[in-house]
Amino acid sequence: MQVLKFGGSSVANATRISRVLDIVEQKAREDRVIVICSAISGCTDQLIAMGQVEGERRESLLAPLKQQHYDIVTRLFTGVERNAVKAELDILFEELLTVPGDECQTYGELISTRIIARKLACEGLSTLWIDSRSVVIKDNEARTYSKIASAVGSHREVRVFVAPGFIAGDGYGHVTNLGRGGSDYSAAIFANCLNASEVTIWKDVDGLLNADPKRFPQTVKIPHISYPEAIELAFYGATVIHPKTMKPLQNKNIALHVRSFIHPENEPTVIDGRPDSGPSVPSYIVKDRQTLVSFSPRDYSFMNEHNLKTIFAACDSLRIHANMIQTSALMLSLCIDSDENRLSALIDCLREQFSIKYNEGLQLFTVRHRAGEQPSEIETEFMKGKKVIVKQGSRSTLQFVLKTV
Ligand code: ASP
Ligand code: MG
Repeated sequence: MQVLKFGGSSVANATRISRVLDIVEQKAREDRVIVICSAISGCTDQLIAMGQVEGERRESLLAPLKQQHYDIVTRLFTGVERNAVKAELDILFEELLTVPGDECQTYGELISTRIIARKLACEGLSTLWIDSRSVVIKDNEARTYSKIASAVGSHREVRVFVAPGFIAGDGYGHVTNLGRGGSDYSAAIFANCLNASEVTIWKDVDGLLNADPKRFPQTVKIPHISYPEAIELAFYGATVIHPKTMKPLQNKNIALHVRSFIHPENEPTVIDGRPDSGPSVPSYIVKDRQTLVSFSPRDYSFMNEHNLKTIFAACDSLRIHANMIQTSALMLSLCIDSDENRLSALIDCLREQFSIKYNEGLQLFTVRHRAGEQPSEIETEFMKGKKVIVKQGSRSTLQFVLKTV
């Protein structure tokens, strides 16, 4: 069994979906497959916006999204099939007008996977759509395992299973999700539960690159990396793979391939249990929208363990994650994702004991495996016009909190 995961850009329009279908059909000739799919690109953002309003305002935000999906259906299907798929989607569009706001964002994957499952069935493949809301139970591995195993195990005749990524159940009958970009994680969960032979994440780039090609002029593909190295890169903000994806795969030693759906003939990046071979190329990772918050005890005591505990307990309870941490005798600085509400809650919580300062609109720039002491040309170029607010380093990783001047 193989798991194929397609992201939002691979299902963005009918032409791309046709490519996806070709890949699935070809793989299904060799093996049974599970297809995990994201919502079409941009859809989840639009659904989140819809969830913030109600009634007519929600209806008017739905209109363009509806049209976008209808256009895909019109291109992919004809005759009675077309009407049947439209009718199926209409039920979901109708639900979207009345569901609680936070559930809206779970519909993108429901819609995209219905279209894909229907089309595969039309092509004559024995296909079954699986409802991830009832089989992926968030934070409950044991229940997820038995539910996925029985949903798939009871259908020996099926060649292709199609399941929405990102969405899950909370175990109490409510719908939830695995966090933004979580479809990769869904694929890993399915693979783990079914002891898949491998997982392929199909992207619009050629594999895992050493930097984001939208930001850096020259990038190179990393042919192979270990699970821990992939976790490091994802953790610092490489958005190619969701950071939680590796653990379920590593636990079962399942290889992850990252490859291009535009050029499937090209070699993928392979992420697996083999150790990293020698010094690899440097990787450059940028995280935008960062805030640096600094805490100093008001009583001029040292930044000791007690103070650290108080600050981190507040972060933990507000679910604030520190992307970079630096301490000195009298100060702790945390680089966090910008979020006004969470930041003001954190300040309210700690202002009595600490004097707190913050600096917004920053970038966190991580260089992993820099070759030598001197900054590379790429690094120098990127830092032009930027001021270093914090710098921190180890043998393998250098981090800079930057402000554009
Ligand atoms: N559609 C979800 C998102 O945009 C999940 C995913 O694409 O992986 O975050
Ligand atoms: Mg993604």
